[in-house]
Amino acid sequence: MKKLLLVFALFGTLACNNSAEENSVNSETPEVASEEKDTIPNFGIVIHGGAGTILKENMSDSLEQQYKAKLEEAIKTGHEILANGGTALEAVQRTINVMENSPLFNAGKGAVFTNEGTNELDASIMDGATLNAGAVAGVTTIKNPINLAYEVMVNSEHVLLAGKGAEKFAEEQGIEIVDPQYFYTEERYKSLQRIREQEKTQLDHDDQKTAFLDPYIKDSKFGTVGCAALDKNGNLAAGTSTGGMTNKRYNRIGDAPIIGAGTYANNKTVAVSSTGWGEFFIRGMVAYDISALMEYKGLSLEEAAREVIQKKIPALGGDGGIIAIDHEGNVAMEFNTAGMYRAKMNRDGELEIGIYGE
Ligand code: ASP
Repeated sequence: MKKLLLVFALFGTLACNNSAEENSVNSETPEVASEEKDTIPNFGIVIHGGAGTILKENMSDSLEQQYKAKLEEAIKTGHEILANGGTALEAVQRTINVMENSPLFNAGKGAVFTNEGTNELDASIMDGATLNAGAVAGVTTIKNPINLAYEVMVNSEHVLLAGKGAEKFAEEQGIEIVDPQYFYTEERYKSLQRIREQEKTQLDHDDQKTAFLDPYIKDSKFGTVGCAALDKNGNLAAGTSTGGMTNKRYNRIGDAPIIGAGTYANNKTVAVSSTGWGEFFIRGMVAYDISALMEYKGLSLEEAAREVIQKKIPALGGDGGIIAIDHEGNVAMEFNTAGMYRAKMNRDGELEIGIYGE
């Protein structure tokens, strides 16, 4: 973690000619006198926009700026809600909506394509105060799946709804429905074509099963989005939204809608959102495992996040990362991939945005 912060500091220093980067350490928020500060309850927010082989040499300056600007817009949306006394749940939802509505991320508008050339979206949200949770999987017509996950949490007795049933529930709840064409983006469609080509040339035609687990295909999922927040009332919440993995088949569902794997929040410990190779995150119960290490073993958030992301998941053969905020406002942004789109913002308005690793 210390190393990560160093990277951020360096990043901020190198980037002083650039408006989004200038805000890596943001001085926009008016200075609050220190006595006054002590009376403001702690709050904070942290987001990710996916982890993977994100390398500076593969990124144009203009694309990098677009990512940073969108991460900044998203996190400031949630931060403002929290600063005005809004709930962590609302901050998580609205922050994720900003990223879902951008084609840059693999969630909502920018969702990746399945093997059949469709888009199947997954999302989940959890309330750390009540341990209530809602999730949807494999939806094809929901503009903002995180909003539907929220409706499942508050307006149904269920936790996880899938496919057509989830879409029927969305209609009943008045959630915004779109034509599946809404999710068409040229960039993502090209990714599908590329992977299909690779599949054809690199694999035995009769061995399609292993194709799904081949290492180069695991890198076909970038840009899942997630948010974790602590509000002024001490409540934690987390949410995750994704299009899953490019070229997924058989109605594959990843970790994002699985409570305990992709998302977990508990006021006693921490709120976590995951991103990475979903199969391993489900098997590792990543988000809950971090909470459990804190609850039962007394680990700090930093220690727990490192244990799970740097040891447990790589030992299983998976990769990815998490963002998390604990009940005291400590934040973790841990990943074992080359990069992870990420940002965090604390009570005092200090903002840090990062993309690459060390
Ligand atoms: N975890 C997501 C999934 O496996 C993908 C990602 O986070 O990039 O569906």
